[in-house]
Amino acid sequence: MQGLYFNDGKAVLRQDLPIPEPQAHESLIRISLAAICNTDREIMKGYKPDFSGVLGHEFVGIVEKSNDPRLIGKRVVGEINEGCGECIYCKTGREKHCESRKCIGIARKDGCFAPYMAIATRSLSVVPDNVPDEHAVFAEPLAAALEIPDSVHIRPSEEICVIGDGRLSYLIAQVLALTGAEITVLGKHEEKLHRFESFAKTTTACDRRFEMVVDAAGSPTGIENAMRLVRSRGTIILKSTYAGKTETNLSAVVVNEVKIVGSRCGPFEPALRLLSRGVFELPPIELHPLRDWDKALASHAFKVGFDFR
Ligand SMILES: [Zn+2]
Ligand SMILES: [Zn+2]
Repeated sequence: MQGLYFNDGKAVLRQDLPIPEPQAHESLIRISLAAICNTDREIMKGYKPDFSGVLGHEFVGIVEKSNDPRLIGKRVVGEINEGCGECIYCKTGREKHCESRKCIGIARKDGCFAPYMAIATRSLSVVPDNVPDEHAVFAEPLAAALEIPDSVHIRPSEEICVIGDGRLSYLIAQVLALTGAEITVLGKHEEKLHRFESFAKTTTACDRRFEMVVDAAGSPTGIENAMRLVRSRGTIILKSTYAGKTETNLSAVVVNEVKIVGSRCGPFEPALRLLSRGVFELPPIELHPLRDWDKALASHAFKVGFDFR
């Protein structure tokens, strides 16, 4: 089969990949849609230099083979981290922090930019019938957005700033707006910011402060802005992963007693329940065949993906 394969710092479209043979605890998924995420672009820029394999971690597909026969033929999405099952992290509900974890399309495991992928069966969630593929493919980034209220207390009376006008910010701002909190989105692009207007205030320049600031800028400038915008004793949530390092004044964190919380992947089942209720505005996804992968990666559409159907 073909697959967008990353090795030695670059991606190539290979035609010679075998269809994966699922292990005893795994299922074989026939991919329907796969979406490109900022993390994929950062991997190509050097964020995960050791990774070698098929890229991609946002998908919806059909189960073709499985150790759980009830799943065969079902439409599913999947949690991307698979821990060893034995270590302290795996045994205390922190599987996504397992030090020898596999993460599809990111670490030690082939991803979904190919017509077939094998994944641990326990990672799968069945997609409700009323959620189309074009929405189900947002389950992974939406779960990542839901990780914020899963890990910090959000007060509806609080004012929250979300930095970034990209796809993850779009989902984060909507998730946080569900609490009733007033959301301000700080971005760089007027044409992207107007999408946020039905659930958030938007701005390209901000000189006031907030109790909570979420950095989803996807670049090293986010933390600097977050430090400038957070109140003393306030909280910064970091959601951006990128290649390279950033410098920031940690003494200001001490003096202003700022809480900094890192936040990565989140829970899929709540994401699917909310998708099924249709409470989110989701952008259209621009779909390409995998052979046009370079065109897809270069696209400036709000959300881009590959169609295998
Ligand atoms: Zn992603
Ligand atoms: Zn483990």
